[in-house]
Amino acid sequence: MIDFQEALEKILKHMHRLPTTTVKLAESLGYVLAETIKAQEPIPRFDSSAVDGYAVRSEDLQNVSDKTPKLLQIIGEVKAGDTVIPILRKGYAIKIFTGACVPPNTNAIAMKEYSKEKNHTVSILSKVEKGENIRQRGEEFKPGDPVIEQGIIITPPVIGVLASLGYKKVRVRVKPCIALIIIGNELRSPGTKLRIGEIYDSNSYAIIAALRSIGINPIYIRRTKDDKCLIKLALTKAIKLSNVIISVGGVSVGEYDFVKDVLTYLDVKQVFWKVAIKPGKPNYFGVLGKKLFFGLPGNPVAALVSFHQLVKPAIFKLMGSNVKNGILPIAKLSTNIKKKSGRLEFVRGILSTNQAGEFVVTPTKGQDSHMLGGLANANCLIYFPKVENFIKKGMSVKSELLNWDIY
Ligand code: AMP
Ligand code: MG
Repeated sequence: MIDFQEALEKILKHMHRLPTTTVKLAESLGYVLAETIKAQEPIPRFDSSAVDGYAVRSEDLQNVSDKTPKLLQIIGEVKAGDTVIPILRKGYAIKIFTGACVPPNTNAIAMKEYSKEKNHTVSILSKVEKGENIRQRGEEFKPGDPVIEQGIIITPPVIGVLASLGYKKVRVRVKPCIALIIIGNELRSPGTKLRIGEIYDSNSYAIIAALRSIGINPIYIRRTKDDKCLIKLALTKAIKLSNVIISVGGVSVGEYDFVKDVLTYLDVKQVFWKVAIKPGKPNYFGVLGKKLFFGLPGNPVAALVSFHQLVKPAIFKLMGSNVKNGILPIAKLSTNIKKKSGRLEFVRGILSTNQAGEFVVTPTKGQDSHMLGGLANANCLIYFPKVENFIKKGMSVKSELLNWDIY
């Protein structure tokens, strides 16, 4: 049995970045950027107004206040999108709107809120400093400045910034082709009638959803019985079609747990089996050339927590990102927790803040590996260290915020 960190390191060592491809910007959400984007021109591209108001010269408005306003004649107007821009003359004003190009000779914009317009003239009621309310050309990026580094996951603001730079397509790394094999005699699909001894197959749904939440649709999904031949058939097909194979169930020590035997038969090299974590001890990881095999335990909480802790970081590394799992805020335990020492336990918890603004964490009800409700109601995993067996109420613990969403 190996420790969690060692298991993760062993997995990540086998993850080789997948090739790059070009996708339409509108379809790039959730991919990992494969090129560093640099500004080609100054951003913003031209001086523009940050407010609705009047383009002025600050030197024309010395000592102005609401008691001593200054009256300026309006000699033109410029609104967002106008491409013919009037020129400002000394002692005059031009009406301007947010986003409009700043007229030549302007060095400040007087806000509409501090002025009064009447019959083509405007009284300016407040002093304006040089540069005030002007978004300057190149103030965010100069040509050649890096805007976004490669390796970032493409999120809505990344798409926004790329669009603002004029990109229609973007270079990303391909996503892995993933096969999912769910194993267990007892499993039936939701919607069918259960006989005693049977249960609904929740892992298919939960793991497919977990994959989709990071932007991946498995290309092959198969549920099989605890039967060596059927498992072999499914795995052989999965190896043909995909580069990452995830099986769920049938990987523990029981006499009907055939995944390891079949993988060995198929020449898959075991990297590890069993990790000192709870839930998720009977985790398997193996390789066959460049094909990667994750054998997740079937207990539904163990399957999802293992996916989150071991599979997700691996997929992101394949896709070119170095994103690790979430942040680990330190929180105060609201209750005593205990366990046997020997495994790192991911206690399902609810992280919140108390009246003093401190993080407080409370384990959810139902902490056994088959109790999905305890995970469904949690927003974090409390890290209960391997060597500890008791942590007292009020003590500080690390708790990782869970985000079943693209991160
Ligand atoms: P296994 O890993 O096959 O030994 O299964 C461990 C436990 O998880 C058993 O109680 C199984 O019935 C349960 N289990 C396995 N696969 C699933 C599944 N797809 N959905 C719900 N429960 C499952
Ligand atoms: Mg089983």
